[in-house]
Amino acid sequence: MSSETAAKTAAPADAEQPWANPHSSLFQNRIVLTTYPGQSVVDPVELNWGHEDPVQRGPILVSRTKETIKKRNAIGAHGGSYAIYNALAIASGDLPPDFRPNFENTQPTFQPPQQPAWSDPTKIVSMDPFGHNVSALFKDRLAEGLDVRPSIAITRAHMRVAEIVDSIKAGTLDVDGEVVINRQGDVKVTKVAVEPVWHLPGVAARFKVDEGILRRALFEFTGGSYPELVTRPDMKVFLPPIGGLTVYIFGPPERVSDPNVKLALRVHDECNGSDVFQSDICTCRPYLAFGIEEAIKEAQNGGSGVVVYFRKEGRALGEVVKYLVYNSRKRGGDTADQYFTRTENIAGVRDMRFQALMPDILHWLGIKKIDRMLSMSNMKHDAIVEQGIPILERCPIPDHLIPSDSRVEIDAKINAGYFTTGKKYTEEDLKQVKGRGWQSWEDVVH
Ligand SMILES: [Zn+2]
Repeated sequence: MSSETAAKTAAPADAEQPWANPHSSLFQNRIVLTTYPGQSVVDPVELNWGHEDPVQRGPILVSRTKETIKKRNAIGAHGGSYAIYNALAIASGDLPPDFRPNFENTQPTFQPPQQPAWSDPTKIVSMDPFGHNVSALFKDRLAEGLDVRPSIAITRAHMRVAEIVDSIKAGTLDVDGEVVINRQGDVKVTKVAVEPVWHLPGVAARFKVDEGILRRALFEFTGGSYPELVTRPDMKVFLPPIGGLTVYIFGPPERVSDPNVKLALRVHDECNGSDVFQSDICTCRPYLAFGIEEAIKEAQNGGSGVVVYFRKEGRALGEVVKYLVYNSRKRGGDTADQYFTRTENIAGVRDMRFQALMPDILHWLGIKKIDRMLSMSNMKHDAIVEQGIPILERCPIPDHLIPSDSRVEIDAKINAGYFTTGKKYTEEDLKQVKGRGWQSWEDVVH
């Protein structure tokens, strides 16, 4: 079957939408399902992952637009999971497929100093260390018509968090005019958004798996969406369709990489139900708010405070699995001794967050040690220490911030080895730690 016939079978040409027409000059006439090294259509721009000179390192190119498709040196698409919305915008006619962003005035509000880790291919494997300066570094490539896109953006803002406002009112947090700028609780922050860019040999090494097995698993379990994972072993970079992360920096951002000042750090994995909607079955929002407050205090004391927020909802199992687990917990008798089993029964594992890639952002920021780690998680702790960043003190969430229904979660975690300075529980104790019962939970009077 010719590609033209295939195109007609899949989507009849529509004269009203020139980009849907297989003869349109906006798309290649031939649909390129996959490529192989050495083909005439394959002429990738050189990419030297780990090179300290960003121009020698080369731009990451994933776009399949007419000007860039031959030059691609990476698999996937920009935007993480939002790539699908981008495709939808083009399919629906809202966005021309040859649209190119105007990068004027989008440059970072703060230039993080280049760190040795930026050119160490073992230290940064899951983000592009030069992703924030793309429009300046590769302006010649952009002028040639190549579709190079940033994968990091750095801005600054004011934020106001209810718990921070409460602490100011209670007199436990000062208004210093620099970090906390007024009694209303406005806090100055520098924010860094990062989308995932994976160097597959480095990711495979981090997980101690064979790169070929990693590529095959990624191909098979994304429904065969990225055949070049298999056919183009020469393309080493993959932009996966997953969420990224945001860094919130309190205090002057240049202090983050200064080993002579103290650093307080919280690494937080998304929990929308608690973080935003404040459901009380877990400690996520209280711990996040505690982390923000401690980060602010460290900045006020002349140090630096950092909160890294990862889009890994429900331990990266997603909200559907998470809610199924909630139901199974509540209906099965919600006790701390059963907490992890309930998740394993449904998801097969208790956690898919894979903290092994998490320390990349700390290397990128130039963090050399963590004075106060605002987390009890051993998985986060071990991943960071394994990457050569010492943690000097670990700070558990204070007891008074733990909602009563979330004791099941926190006590199960402590029993499983999470760090605590407080009481440790026996299996017998855990049976006694119960959440709100099924009856009071389900039989809500409407
Ligand atoms: Zn949570």
